[in-house]
Amino acid sequence: MQRGRRKPDWLKSRPPSGSRFTEIKDRLRERDLHTVCEEANCPNMGECWSGRDGPGTATFMLMGDRCSRGCNFCDVETGGMEPLDPDEPANVADAVVDIGLDYVVLTSVDRDDLADGGSAHFAETIRAIKRRDPEILVETLIPDFQGDPEAIDRIVDAGPDVIAHNVETVERLQWPVRDRRANYEQSLAVLDRVDRESDIHTKTSLMLGVGEYHHEVYRTLGDLSEVGVDVVTFGQYLQPSRSHLDVFEYVHPDAFETWRAVAETEFDFLYCASGPMVRSSYKAGELFVEALLR
Ligand code: SF4
Ligand code: SF4
Repeated sequence: MQRGRRKPDWLKSRPPSGSRFTEIKDRLRERDLHTVCEEANCPNMGECWSGRDGPGTATFMLMGDRCSRGCNFCDVETGGMEPLDPDEPANVADAVVDIGLDYVVLTSVDRDDLADGGSAHFAETIRAIKRRDPEILVETLIPDFQGDPEAIDRIVDAGPDVIAHNVETVERLQWPVRDRRANYEQSLAVLDRVDRESDIHTKTSLMLGVGEYHHEVYRTLGDLSEVGVDVVTFGQYLQPSRSHLDVFEYVHPDAFETWRAVAETEFDFLYCASGPMVRSSYKAGELFVEALLR
């Protein structure tokens, strides 16, 4: 563990490279498209996009770049919501097919300003991709839709391969980490509903380093396992700016490895990706396919 503002060496990353990375980047620029990977300047682009041992993964953000919520760890702007772009589902589907991605992660801002939370738009994007090429694996990282079961079922009915929803942190720290409209129980209920209503794999992520205790992380793994979550990921929280939540500690890579082992051996998760740089969609295609083939 390391406290303080200085980032430890293990968080220093190398710039992304590789022929597949360059090819995807060029194709995105040609179409003037932007991924979350690039906008967040994610350190994992080289690994995720190249998919060295399986499908390459890239993440697209739907429904605009402004969120109706304001989580204290997140850099997305709050408020000033724009109307949905009705062409977005088809445009994203075209882009995914044209770029030649095998595994795509669709995520979105929260749209509490819309009656259905944007679930129909999200579902249409999944369908549009599957219509273009049913072989493309689609992972969705969905909002909680304020717990609305109809909205969750709309996503399920669209037939993605993985539905992820992040609990982000342990129960005690939901606030101040997340917006007050989010909570632990509601997020577990979202994952539970997907598990009960379908065979679709479920996934969630936690950030470490926001002040959680070990016993709380352990309990969270138990709660997630109980609602049938298949995949869990752990990554280090990094403060996007001085006005965001402080980093409580930089968790050592060995501790991340311990949590991976605990999740995969003491609980029955399909796999756990865990490391300081791991993000919810980290090498999602590669790790998912590898786990299914095990
Ligand atoms: Fe960011 Fe999601 Fe929170 Fe919105 S709901 S502020 S996009 S983490
Ligand atoms: Fe993109 Fe997610 Fe991989 Fe980062 S971790 S490069 S956001 S797919």
